[in-house]
Order: sequence, then structure tokens, then C-alpha cells
Amino acid sequence: MTDQIKTSSASYITDVRINWDKINPVFANTMRQVLGVCFVKHNINMIPTFGIRTLSDQAKLWRQSRSSLEINQEIQKLKASNCDYLANILISVGPQNGPHVTNSLPGLSWHNWGEAIDCLAFVNNTPIMSGDAPEYATYAQVAVDYGLTAGDLFKSFKDAGHVQLRKQEILDLYTIKEVNDHFQVCETGREV
Ligand SMILES: [Zn+2]
Repeated sequence: MTDQIKTSSASYITDVRINWDKINPVFANTMRQVLGVCFVKHNINMIPTFGIRTLSDQAKLWRQSRSSLEINQEIQKLKASNCDYLANILISVGPQNGPHVTNSLPGLSWHNWGEAIDCLAFVNNTPIMSGDAPEYATYAQVAVDYGLTAGDLFKSFKDAGHVQLRKQEILDLYTIKEVNDHFQVCETGREV
């Protein structure tokens, strides 16, 4: 089943590539409105390319580009904070190779929580690959108008296609131990 927003002027397929069922329902609803406004008012087709990311995938992305020394230090830090569930995910994915793409440990990306979506802009069916293109600024402004937080406006690490539900970082809201316990219960059903 595809997911559609129907308006008087357009029928807009939001996408089949991300699993909307795994996205926070409040956020999913708001994002659909944002994408609809981008399309209908601005003629920018924002296609979601990424939604939920598992902790294992996050761990792989975090490990790639980091030295074993740095990885082992982080594993020890997690264990010292009684975060064995997160530590074991970092261990279990094994060695990875690739460019530096994230600063977020598993559990510390809003994508892990279903509260972030990345989109690629298309105009007249042509993908807009540069994050500096004005289409991303428009998308970010619409997202902000709807109360969301846009990665295009991040000061330290601009992330043009990224939009998230809240403005805070996860560690502004939870301790690392709370994150560990949340995912342990969610993913394994095992009480802590
Ligand atoms: Zn993102």
C-alpha cells in the first residue's frame, strides 16, 4: 500500500521506501503535511529516503571511520555506565570501513527512535544533490513552520535533508543508561 496525500491540485505519493509504520505517529503526520506543502506550494518534491535506523545499523555507521582504540574506549565507557546492551551492539557488528558519517552512538540518533526522516529534493523529476540548493532551505523553513527541527539549520553539522521531531539531543532528555534500558526493553522484551 502506498501512502498518499491528496489535495485539490495534486496527488502526491509520499514514498514507499521508508516504513512509515515505524515512525512516531505525531511526527509522521506532521511530516506528511510538510511534504505536501513543499510539493503543492513550492513545487519541490521531497522524497523520503530514510526513516528508522536500527541500533545495529547505527553501530556500523559509528564504527566505520573510527580506530579500534577509540571504539574500545567507548565500549569500556558504556560498560562502566552499566550500558551493556549498547556496548554489546557496538561489539557485535564487528569491524567496519567507510567515511565519517555520524557522531551518534547507537541509540543516540533520532532515526533510532523513529523521530527523524531524511529526504531528497526533486524538481521536475530531477534530484537536487547539493544540500546548499535553495530547495533545502525552503523545506527547512516549512518544517520549522510546522514546529519541527531541520538539519539544514544545524550549526555544527549541517544535514540538509534531515528533519526531526524535537530540537533537543537525546542526551538532553535521557541519560545514556535510560537510553540503554529503553532499547533493551523495546528490542528484546527483557526487563533491566
Ligand atoms: Zn537524518
